[in-house]
Amino acid sequence: MLTKAPKGTKDILPEASPKWRYVEEKFREVCRRYGLEEIRTPIFEHTELFQRGVGDTTDIVQKEMYIFEDHAGRSISLKPEGTAGVVRSYIENKIYAGTKPAKVYYETPCFRYERPQAGRLREFHQFGVEVFGASSMMADAEVITLAMDFLKSVGVGGLELRINSIGCPECRSNYRKALQDYLRPHFDELCEDCKGRFERNPMRIIDCKVPRCGEIAKDAPRMLDYLCEDCSSSFEELKSNLKASGVEFTVDPGIVRGLDYYTKTAFEIVTNTIGAQGTVCGGGRYDNLVEELDGPATPGIGFGLGIERLLIVMEATGAYLPDAEKTDVFIAFIGDAAKAEAQKLARKLRNEGLRVMLDVAERNVKGQFKYSDRVNSRFTATIGDDELASGCVSLKNMETGEQKLVSEVDIPSVVRG
Ligand code: ATP
Ligand code: MG
Repeated sequence: MLTKAPKGTKDILPEASPKWRYVEEKFREVCRRYGLEEIRTPIFEHTELFQRGVGDTTDIVQKEMYIFEDHAGRSISLKPEGTAGVVRSYIENKIYAGTKPAKVYYETPCFRYERPQAGRLREFHQFGVEVFGASSMMADAEVITLAMDFLKSVGVGGLELRINSIGCPECRSNYRKALQDYLRPHFDELCEDCKGRFERNPMRIIDCKVPRCGEIAKDAPRMLDYLCEDCSSSFEELKSNLKASGVEFTVDPGIVRGLDYYTKTAFEIVTNTIGAQGTVCGGGRYDNLVEELDGPATPGIGFGLGIERLLIVMEATGAYLPDAEKTDVFIAFIGDAAKAEAQKLARKLRNEGLRVMLDVAERNVKGQFKYSDRVNSRFTATIGDDELASGCVSLKNMETGEQKLVSEVDIPSVVRG
């Protein structure tokens, strides 16, 4: 127990950190280019925020949240997704009073009590983007293009953008009836979850991963055929804006976000490279969410992108991911005077920006050389009595094996080549 991490969680170990940092930097860079600024919100919020902001009828709120009571008896939940907290902050901090549209990005851990499997964890991480205050489909196209550009920048192949429209509460009520009429004769064949969804949230049945439910849903009426005039012309605009941005897409009527405050655009970015759990990114428009959370009516559009899933895809497809960083210079010392000199020199080189290692376990020189190999040094500097006297170090290029006496002040230029 004590030395086992909770089920569904994963340590990000030192050897994986450079890979995480790499995709994090790429994401920040793409967001910077699109003119977004970062927002950081708490890892826990009042449970009610998610009940209203994610939706009481969703699997997330019904079954998957980590809920606890704090010492003052408040119901608190770990965030299962990123949007609700950002919307709460948008309202609380009156960001709506500033420049519109407001465009933000974030990276956040998310917590969902799901059955752990490859690409499905109980603690996972998301990159996210939210844009508030633009009802034009130009915003949707820009948000989608950002996600595509990011995935391209980290070398993910086999990408497919799937878009759909889930309409607005108005057109959806007709659709809901039609969907229920279609599903009713199949009610007994639905899984237990979907039986519950039938009244509560029938659109979610379309999204069910149980094979039989999927077969039934295949021939169900499509939301696209029930769109009102406004939603229908928005969907056409979305397509033409995506075309203008040069982004390819397919229309997939199976993409749903069965909640009243999610509207119009719904999309997923899927890769065909890893089979199951191939959905790397999901998002859509939420024109009624800010109001639902007691803010001023403000349209919004955003996405969440699973980082663990992204890394699985990158690894499986051989996309570039950096290994542990090499050490620029390892400084070996022989004797106490040399040790003091090595410490002084190390600090100086570090202040100049080099990655420098010493053997702080103070092994003998043979042990130090072995350690130098283990930390992947590009150069090993050795200081003994002779070098001390001359103000030089013996500098070995670990790749070529070439070794020469180098004055301490010249080390950075030699190392930097
Ligand atoms: P799925 O259909 O795979 O369950 P979802 O619709 O629940 O996904 P969203 O809520 O849209 O997912 O979250 C956005 C992204 O976060 C997903 O596309 C996926 O990459 C990632 N994600 C969602 N749940 C998990 C999880 N339990 N573990 C790891 N990544 C996840
Ligand atoms: Mg899910």
